[in-house]
Amino acid sequence: MHGFYALTNKEMEKEDLIYKEKKTPFTRVNLSSQDLYSLAEKVGTPYYLIDERVMAENYYRLLNAYRGYIGSVSVAYSVKANFNPYVLGTYAKLGTKFDVTSPEELYFLLKSGGAPENVIYTSVTEGKEEYAEVLSKGVRRVVVSSQNGLNNLIEAASALNVVPTVGIRVNPEVQVKAEVKSSFKISKFGVPFNGGAPESAYKLTKQILGSDKVTFGGVHFHLGSQVETPAAYIMALEKVKNFIMRIKKELGAGLLFLDIGGGTPVNYGIKVPTPEEMASQIVDKLNDIAMINGSPYNLIIESGRYLVAESTILVSKIVNVKYYNSKKIIYLDTGYHQLLDIALLQQIYPLEVVPSDESEAAEKPLVAGRLCDSMDVFQIGPESKLEGADIGKLMVIKNVGAYSIVFNMPFHSQVKPAVVFRDSKGNYYLARKRQDLEELYDEEGGSLYAKKEAIA
Ligand SMILES: *Cc1c(COP(=O)(O)O)cnc(C)c1O
Repeated sequence: MHGFYALTNKEMEKEDLIYKEKKTPFTRVNLSSQDLYSLAEKVGTPYYLIDERVMAENYYRLLNAYRGYIGSVSVAYSVKANFNPYVLGTYAKLGTKFDVTSPEELYFLLKSGGAPENVIYTSVTEGKEEYAEVLSKGVRRVVVSSQNGLNNLIEAASALNVVPTVGIRVNPEVQVKAEVKSSFKISKFGVPFNGGAPESAYKLTKQILGSDKVTFGGVHFHLGSQVETPAAYIMALEKVKNFIMRIKKELGAGLLFLDIGGGTPVNYGIKVPTPEEMASQIVDKLNDIAMINGSPYNLIIESGRYLVAESTILVSKIVNVKYYNSKKIIYLDTGYHQLLDIALLQQIYPLEVVPSDESEAAEKPLVAGRLCDSMDVFQIGPESKLEGADIGKLMVIKNVGAYSIVFNMPFHSQVKPAVVFRDSKGNYYLARKRQDLEELYDEEGGSLYAKKEAIA
């Protein structure tokens, strides 16, 4: 075991038992310590491990949470949370829809087995060439957020002679209790429901109904990420209801779909509502809207965080330990370059030393990353198990599947770690190889520096 803490067989057996018996919601990925160590040998540390079984369980759980809704329900995976081909391929097999926001994400999705019919394309930039590109790849459901965006979509669609179904992204302007908020009084996202100048969902609806190049599909909103209570959804849906009443009466329009965006929260060690608790508070409103609409619409629940977060662990190695005035400080071979939200949001992730030693005194140590930056420390939540941390042991960081791998950066000339994928049969695959240093040097200008060719 090169440089790793060596486990005796007995320790190994004991650890495996402990690991398997723990059925806390924070340990959805159950791996024996033997497997964790032997994967570390194979692919190096740190590494991410994605567990397909957890992805599938969370998908079905989220879908079933909304079965009280009288119409059809679709769950759409937000590709931005993790666009690894194994992840996209898994959701394609499961039959989810996809929330896609750039031609590049669409490229990844289609290459990984996703179908364009299952895409809900919600752009921030809304350019004509961008729309032409995604329509030409077969996308037929597009959510617009501006007058210019709608005009661009109509032009792109008529040039290609296709008729996309259009949703309108509204900004419900409600107060949201969430880690990342997307609904404010004035926001970069969406348009207001009503009102005057220059654009509103009402005006855009009218324009769509008056055009034979597009079909009116419905309404979309996205409140934010890790939304901690259903209250904001209830308020937003009340506004959607009034809006549907108005367009029904004045324009004779009805919804084919209603997309309530993402935000289903993840339990990182601090209690949040479950998908069932969230859904039970809002299905009545969803059913009310279907009544007003005159028929059930397709309900779309988007999710990045809830679908993938719990499926993934980051396995790092403890590389140093010191005591500062008796406070234990543990240094890992990872940091915010591989888990950005520890710095950006001071996100708490459950941590666990493997193997742990529960006989050690309980004072919580400081857990530090390897970067020369004081933001590079880990918040310690109530679920963390840090007893027995020692040089060479592994530190498992849990629930890291969303918004982590996609933010990998080479700060301090660090290579991207390997990503391992465990399929639902228990087979392990390399889903991304560890970048090598030479490759990184080239990408960062190394080979250009060697050649020194003038470009002007
Ligand atoms: C990011 C995003 C989502 C996913 O949000 P989660 O918090 O990961 O569920 C859904 N819809 C839109 C439009 C988004 O931008």
